[in-house]
Amino acid sequence: MKDQLIIATAFEGTVRIYAATTTAIVEEARRIHNTWPTATAALGRTLTGTLIMGVMYDPLHRLTVRLVGDGPVGEILAVSNQRGTVKGDIVQPQVDLELNQFGKLDVAGAVGSGELIVLKDIGLKEPYQGVVPIVSGEIAEDFAYYFTKSEQTPSAVALGVLVNPDGGVRVAGGLIVQLMPGVTEETTSYLENCLSKMPPITTVLESGKGLTDLIAEVLGPIEVNLLEEIDVNYYCDCSYDKFKGPLLSLGDAELDAILQQQGCIEVKCHFCHQQYQYRKADLE
Ligand SMILES: [Zn+2]
Repeated sequence: MKDQLIIATAFEGTVRIYAATTTAIVEEARRIHNTWPTATAALGRTLTGTLIMGVMYDPLHRLTVRLVGDGPVGEILAVSNQRGTVKGDIVQPQVDLELNQFGKLDVAGAVGSGELIVLKDIGLKEPYQGVVPIVSGEIAEDFAYYFTKSEQTPSAVALGVLVNPDGGVRVAGGLIVQLMPGVTEETTSYLENCLSKMPPITTVLESGKGLTDLIAEVLGPIEVNLLEEIDVNYYCDCSYDKFKGPLLSLGDAELDAILQQQGCIEVKCHFCHQQYQYRKADLE
C-alpha cells in the first residue's frame, strides 16, 4: 500500500493535525541500510518525523534533521522537503538491543543522549538552524520538545515503527497535533485528555485503519477539516552530475593521486547506496 500524509485543522483552525503512514518508506530505508530492529525503529521514527515536519513550512527547499546521540546507532540523518519525500542514513545500522522494560524496542537506549539539530533551507544563503538537547531518545518526545521549545508551537508527537519477527517493517506512521495561536484552554485540555489515552499509533494502523480513522480514534468525535492529502515516499535525488561538483572541488592534485592509485574514483551515495564511477576523462 502507498504511504500517505494528510494535513487537517480542527477547532476553527486553532489546532493543526498531521498524520502519515510510512510503512513503505521505513521498509525501503531498512532494505537500503540493512538495519536491525532497534535501528530500524530509530531510523524509521526519525524519517517519519522529518517527513511530516517537511510539509509544515512554506517556503522550504529542504529540511535536514540530525539526531546526534552517543548511543550505539550513532548519528541519524534525515532529509525531507515540502513535496513529501524523505531519505535518511544511520551510522550503525546493525543494532538490535534487548527490549526495554515495557517490552518495546529500546530506541532511547540505541540513540543515547546528545542533540537534535534542525536545518531549514528556505532558499537563503544560510539555512536556519535550531538545536535542542535530546530529552528522551524515543524521538517523538524529542520532536515535540523541539516544536515547543524552538518554535514556540506546543505539539504532541507520536511516531511508531512495528517490526515483524523476520525484521521487516510491519507498519509505521506518525501523528503530530499542534496548538496554534488563539487556541482555547477548553480545547487544550480536551486534546491533552485524548492524547494521554492514545493507544500506540502502530496498534491503530495495524488494525487496517486509514489516516482519517486514526484521527477520529485519537481525537474523538470532533469536526476535522481536511486540507491536503499527499502521496509520500522514500526518494533520493542524487545523480552522476550532483557528485561531480564536490569531487572537482577536491582539486587536481588530490584527484590525480586517487586516480593514479585506483584508476577511477568511486562514490557511493549515503542515502540510497547508488554507486557512481568517475574516470579521469569524466573529471576534466
Ligand atoms: Zn542517492
